[in-house]
This record gives sequence, C-alpha cells and structure tokens, in this order.
Amino acid sequence: MAETRTTKLLIIGSGPAGYTAGVYGSRAMLDPILVQGIEPGGQLTTTTEVENWPGDTEVQGPDLMVRMEAHAKAMGTEIIGDIIIDLDLSSRPFKAKGDSGTTYVADAVILATGARAKWLGMESEEKFKGFGVSACATCDGFFYRNQEIVVIGGGNTAVEEALFLTKFASKVTLVHRRDELRAEKILIDRLMKNPKIEPLWFHELHEVYGTENPLGVEGIKVKHTKTGEITDIAAKGVFVAIGHAPANELVKDTLETHMGGYVVTKPDSTETSIPGVFAAGDLTDHEYRQAVTSAGMGCMAALEAERFLSQEGDETAVQSEQPQTEEA
Ligand code: FAD
Ligand code: NAP
Repeated sequence: MAETRTTKLLIIGSGPAGYTAGVYGSRAMLDPILVQGIEPGGQLTTTTEVENWPGDTEVQGPDLMVRMEAHAKAMGTEIIGDIIIDLDLSSRPFKAKGDSGTTYVADAVILATGARAKWLGMESEEKFKGFGVSACATCDGFFYRNQEIVVIGGGNTAVEEALFLTKFASKVTLVHRRDELRAEKILIDRLMKNPKIEPLWFHELHEVYGTENPLGVEGIKVKHTKTGEITDIAAKGVFVAIGHAPANELVKDTLETHMGGYVVTKPDSTETSIPGVFAAGDLTDHEYRQAVTSAGMGCMAALEAERFLSQEGDETAVQSEQPQTEEA
C-alpha cells in the first residue's frame, strides 16, 4: 500500500547543499527527511580529487560525500533512497510524490536538486551516447586504456576530465571553441604541462562518427569557428564537458527562474517566491557553483526554514491565545 510520510522539513537532493541542510535542520530539531534522488551524493561522486574543500588539502569526491551523508544521518536526518517525481507547492502542507509510491507531506521544503551535465544536442552525439560518447570521465575513462580521446569544453570540468583521462589514454585532445580556457589557473597550468594533452583552439564538434555493428566511436569531425574548415580527429572516446544546467524540472513551472533556469531566491537568502520553500546550491547559483558555496547555502536554507516554522508556530500560538469572543 502507498505510504504517506509527514515531516516538518523535506530536503530534496543529496549533494553538499542537501546534506548540509540535513545537518543544520537536524540540529534545529526539525527531524528532516532527505530524499536522495538518482545520484546519491550529487555531482562530486563523478569526480576524483577535490582540492578546494576547506580542511582537506585533497579528498576524493565520493569519499567526501559518504562522510557528508554519515554526518547528516548522525545528526538525525532520515535519508531515503527515492526520487521525487512530482511536487505540489500550491498550498501548505506541501506534497511531494516519490517514484517509490510514497507521498511526502511537509511544512517546509528545501530544494537542493543541483545541476546536470549539458549535451550539445547533436544527432550523432545522441547516437553514440554510451557507446563512446560520455559526460563522465571518472565513470567511463577506464574503458579507453591506450586509446586516443577527445574532450569538448574549456571550463574546470573539461580541464579536470582531460587531466584525469591521461591516466588511461595515449593522447587527449581538448577541443575548445575559443583560445582561452575559463578553468582555474592552477588547472590550466597542469593541462599545459601535460605532454599527453593537446589543446585544439577555435574548434567545435561537428559530428561524431564510428562503426555500426557493434556501435562504437572511431573519430570526430571538428569545425574551425573562424574559417569553417572541417578536419578529422581519430578517437575512440568523446567526453562532452560543456557545462551544467540546473535540475529544475520539479519547479520550473511554479517558481521564478532566470539565467537559463536557475531558481530565483531573495537577495542574501534562500527564500523562493513561495513562503516555506527554500532553494540552495547549484539549482539557484549561476555564478559560483562550488561544493563549499552549495554547502553554505544548504546551511542558510535550514536556518531560514527553522525561522519560518518557528515564526509560524508563534503566530499560531498567538492566534490560539486570543481571547474567545462571546459568540464563539
Ligand atoms: P548536486 O551535487 O548537483 O546534487 C544534486 C542532488 O539532487 C543529487 O543528489 C540528485 O540525486 C538530487 N536530485 C536531483 N533531482 C532530484 C529529484 N527529483 N528527487 C530527489 N533528488 C533529486 N566543486 C568544487 O567545489 N570542487 C571541485 O573540485 C569540484 N569538482 C567537480 C567535478 C565535476 C566533474 C563536476 C561535475 C562538478 C565539480 N564541482 C566541484 C562542482 C560541485 O560538484 C557542485 O557545485 C556541487 O556538487 C553542487 O552541490 P548541490 O548540493 O547543489 O547539488
Ligand atoms: P562552465 O564553467 O560553464 O564551462 C563550460 C565550458 O564549455 C566553457 O568553456 C564553454 O565555452 C564551453 N561550452 C559551452 N557550451 C558549448 C558549446 N555549445 N559548444 C562548445 N563549447 C561549449 O562549466 P563546467 O566546467 O562544467 O563547470 C561548472 C561549475 O562547476 C563551475 O562553476 C566550475 O567552477 C565548477 N567546477 C569546479 C571544479 C573545481 O573547483 N575543481 C571542477 C569542476 C567544476 P566558453 O568558455 O567559450 O563559454
């Protein structure tokens, strides 16, 4: 039989924002329920070394997220392996439907659904997805030992993926549409010093090609962004790393969004346009998109949820303390 779970605070998402909200929400005695979604631990589970999490000179992304989960649990957060497929924010208490069939009924909600990798949207990219085209080097890099690989993009993800892939590949070509990378300087420095990586400036992916039976990548055609000239690069693997878009599917029709779908929050706050609904992390942050800033917003969201619920408790108490009228 379908179950209904009632909670003061429902946290949707299990990245740094969600788990931190769990730690703070638990300490505020809100007994939060946290629903993990399809990627328990969030984006950091798809990387290896994290070198900018304060307190750890270097930590593996998946290990950090296991520790965060354990921390939230130890503080009292109930962590549930489910995916929210529908969210009704039209009236309070809010209602969320889980893929498991469970309905979650909550006085306040923290949205921490993060971001997902973007794709170029090409037919040939789609055709070879999972058969040589990937957006996750840590997941799929191992399959390309001693092979030639291309990475598309010029941000932190593209540069980190290119560096990581040199552990396996014989050569990595980094294809970027400009001649300037937007990655951190320390990463660019490592990239430029790596003899296995060759940057290809002013080029975009034009087409992925390969064999039909079995389906597999043999190479790509790239187009010069200034001259339009098409050239060929032999490669067995293509890693698309062109950025991330906010995972806003649950709220894109109910909450205000901007800058390509990021949920709008009030200045210096995680409050959304619906009282009692808070948004934290990459879902709302088009600027910084870091683990530490996401965790910071998760903390803010839990503190704001606690304030919202206790103010509401005060108001209810005030109302119930009103002298009764004679008619009543
Ligand atoms: P995410 O980590 O994106 O987590 C989102 C969570 O929401 C997931 O658990 C998902 O399952 C859940 N979810 C989504 N939809 C639903 C749903 N419908 N129901 C329930 N749950 C749902 N940042 C750094 O600071 N340092 C780094 O070294 C670093 N390296 C990175 C390397 C890579 C390859 C990538 C992709 C990113 C990296 N980042 C790094 C960025 C960092 O990972 C993000 O800024 C951070 O993870 C965002 O945290 P978040 O909690 O907002 O969301
Ligand atoms: P990003 O910073 O948005 O970079 C996306 C890159 O892809 C850009 O270089 C962009 O080119 C390129 N691009 C976008 N659309 C393209 C298209 N259609 N065709 C070709 N190229 C295209 O995204 P990201 O690298 O995934 O990083 C996302 C966030 O996570 C960032 O805030 C980043 O700092 C963070 N992150 C941090 C770390 C770390 O701290 N070590 C690691 C990974 C990610 P242009 O430059 O020309 O726009």
